[in-house]
Amino acid sequence: MNLASNFPLVSRQANDPTNFGFSIGGLTFSQTSWHIFAGLNAVDNEHNVALTFKKLNALGLNCARMGAFKPRTSPYSFQGLGEQCLPYVFALAATYNIKMLAMEITHEAQLDHIFKLLARENNPTKVLVQIGTRNAQNFELLKALSKQNVFPILYKRGYGITLEESIAACEYLSYGGNSNIIFCLRGMKSNFADPHRNFVDVAHIPVIKRLTKMPVCFDPSHAVGNMNSDLNNIPDIWHTSAQAVIAGANMLLVDVHPKPNQALVDAKQALKLDDLEMFLEDVAICRAAYEKRRALQKCAPEAITTSAHS
Ligand code: PEP
Ligand code: MN
Repeated sequence: MNLASNFPLVSRQANDPTNFGFSIGGLTFSQTSWHIFAGLNAVDNEHNVALTFKKLNALGLNCARMGAFKPRTSPYSFQGLGEQCLPYVFALAATYNIKMLAMEITHEAQLDHIFKLLARENNPTKVLVQIGTRNAQNFELLKALSKQNVFPILYKRGYGITLEESIAACEYLSYGGNSNIIFCLRGMKSNFADPHRNFVDVAHIPVIKRLTKMPVCFDPSHAVGNMNSDLNNIPDIWHTSAQAVIAGANMLLVDVHPKPNQALVDAKQALKLDDLEMFLEDVAICRAAYEKRRALQKCAPEAITTSAHS
């Protein structure tokens, strides 16, 4: 791959050690930052939004995921509540000090709805606009998003295209002037992933950091797709989160629900809100281990020089 010359806006030039990133709403995202966005895959009612934000706030989290516009495989499946839920989602975000919401859009017109409804509530929070894997090469949507600077973008890799093609899509996002992009790994579609929903791609975390300027997010919920556990009761979703964090992921995007079996979308993969505290503890162990791994390399500068951008 010669990304640096093909896609100069999002690619890292060889040997450039800059920690690229951006700040918005008092939050900083870079290849060294660390955030957890837990929340509802799809907003179903105001009560569950309030319960979720309240728990996040009690656990010291100030970011969340909240899906309102859902791209569904079947036209008969719940399509998300759309703009109708946004007023209470934004108002509750203010109540519980949630500073940023990750929210997928499927059409550029939804940007306007989000912008107007945020303004109506006096801009209580920021929105990190998600491009879902199904829109990974929706070039008109990518171009529309690239022309605005209000919303940072969480780009989910295409689940059936090459990594280079997903990075090319991010160049589209950057082309119009928006360089506030986070790259999200969420697994690749493959029957070889069985019994997981997608083939987990945490091995690409250091690759994205080495090849691009983008912070890296990992979505264990969509990668694994179920809450099955090992003999110690540790769910595969926790294990893959641990693997991502210990490899230096800058962000986790995790589905949680007060009552997962009642979730209207992807019910099988949501963590119980009551289990979130222990999940955060598990993840904190892994983040600390990652910091120790970095410190170890700093003690051995030769190792860094010989391994950088090879
Ligand atoms: C989601 O995050 O709700 C989602 C639909 O994810 P993906 O695009 O990765 O399937
Ligand atoms: Mn989903």
